[in-house]
Amino acid sequence: MKFLKLLLCLPLVLQAVEPLKLSLPTDNRALFDGKPEDFYMFVFRGNSKAWTAGQYGFVRNLIKTEKEGVIATKFHEGLDIKPVKRDRNQNPLDEIRAIASGQVVYLNKNAGGSDYGKYIVVKHDWGYGPFYSLYAHLARVDVELEQRVLGGFPIGTMGYTGVGLNRTRAHLHLELCMLSTENFEDWLGAPTQRGPYDGRNLIGLDIASLFLAARANGDLTIPAFLESASPYFKVAIPRDGELEITKRYPWLKKGDHSKPSNAYEIAFTDSGIPLSVVPSHRQVTEPHLTFVRTTRSRHEHYTRGRLTGSGRRATLTKSGRKFIALFTNEYTKPKAPVEPAQ
Ligand SMILES: [Zn+2]
Repeated sequence: MKFLKLLLCLPLVLQAVEPLKLSLPTDNRALFDGKPEDFYMFVFRGNSKAWTAGQYGFVRNLIKTEKEGVIATKFHEGLDIKPVKRDRNQNPLDEIRAIASGQVVYLNKNAGGSDYGKYIVVKHDWGYGPFYSLYAHLARVDVELEQRVLGGFPIGTMGYTGVGLNRTRAHLHLELCMLSTENFEDWLGAPTQRGPYDGRNLIGLDIASLFLAARANGDLTIPAFLESASPYFKVAIPRDGELEITKRYPWLKKGDHSKPSNAYEIAFTDSGIPLSVVPSHRQVTEPHLTFVRTTRSRHEHYTRGRLTGSGRRATLTKSGRKFIALFTNEYTKPKAPVEPAQ
């Protein structure tokens, strides 16, 4: 009887939400020691070294604005982690380890094949959809495709492969991402060796803040972590069946999805992380901006060029519309089988 009870409980246990249990990917622990200047790899700004540009977020391409002073307009999707070990020729020796248990879903062993150089993507599932950690600019890849890895398991060696790097600035570029669409090639309009594991399709989360928050709260989940993020813009799109993104991440659904509605309104952060999908009665025939945060400089600067305008006025740019198409069913719906010609 006891055994039967246990058996009945099993499916529930298997679907349970698991703790994040994140571990840093190298021996560099300065993030936890409150020494960001030792954790992040700098970029040169003139003669000075700016470690802040190694952080996640809008940290690069500084411009002077009339109303808000100097702001950074280029978004950095991950963290650039400094090496802590080098050989006598100054090559980095740091072992790179998986930040959590998962499965290797993509490897680029060809240094010239991408801006990321040699890189690895590991898929994780803590019980609320897939997330992807990405380890770039490696010197060496030590895992095979589809290999299962435990958190802390060595997967490669730090290097400086990829675009715009040299030995001095060798680092690990680390991301933790959501996936926009499995049908990325349809969106791109061309086949790609990377499949969906392309920077344009991976949405990087604020992984340094997540490391710190998960360390402080062992029960933290990513949906709970994202609740503290605020939307920068919202876009209404015609409702045409369930969206792929809410099938993958059902916790994005807010409001009552059981009743019919004309549209969905999707809320995004400034960098493009989807925060919620809410049914809406708006009449729209194409993606339409319904909300924007009011800022004093142009929206291009804060949204990676996806919005244009200033203050309360904003519209989607061409690249903004292309970005929104990653989430609509226009490209992401599985194609109906083609009828054979009679
Ligand atoms: Zn980077």
